Amino acid sequence: MKIYNPPLILQKLSSTFLHWRVDTKEREMFLTFDDGPTKGITPNILKVLEQYQAKATFFCNGKQARENPEIIEIIKQSGHYLGNHTYSHLNGWKTSAKDYLGDVKRSEEIFQSSLFRPPYGRITLQQAKMLNNQYHIIMWSIMTYDYHPKVNPEQSLIKLRIKAVPGSIILMHDSEKAADNVISILTGVLEYFSLLGFTFSSLEKVFPRKT
Ligand SMILES: [Zn+2]
Repeated sequence: MKIYNPPLILQKLSSTFLHWRVDTKEREMFLTFDDGPTKGITPNILKVLEQYQAKATFFCNGKQARENPEIIEIIKQSGHYLGNHTYSHLNGWKTSAKDYLGDVKRSEEIFQSSLFRPPYGRITLQQAKMLNNQYHIIMWSIMTYDYHPKVNPEQSLIKLRIKAVPGSIILMHDSEKAADNVISILTGVLEYFSLLGFTFSSLEKVFPRKT
């Protein structure tokens, strides 16, 4: 059984440095995409978002951003927001704080963002404290498991319809692994929650620039 919400205890323990949702009563939801940009996938996601006039946040890897500068430019020009997801998708639990920070810094110039999401959601307290001066560290409220070979989009959507509330941060992926599922899930979310009066914003308006 997949855990679609992060365990509450983890959310409470780490709420000083990590953001798991947006505090709002408005019917507003925050779509986020990790691990891109990816040719043939990110542009399709952008098209669907445009159809619904939805804005999103893309937590990109610096390495892939360097390889796909034209997609980064389109993301920016379309009014979406970029976040730093390290340069080489490091696992914080297996990386020294010094190396981790160095990898984040390597991406800084590309994204010029005050938002950071740790790959795999794995970050140590020390790393989080060090990044906290410069970044809002964004986790997620609901994981779609769009990358998982055993989760089909309909299962994922059923969970989302039950669990999403105003201020939810939804985690999807614009990566090869999620290619089979992400468009169906995204379209399903936009269709269903638009009818309920939800709007979809990037996280830029919620988290002010730190530097
Ligand atoms: Zn990732």
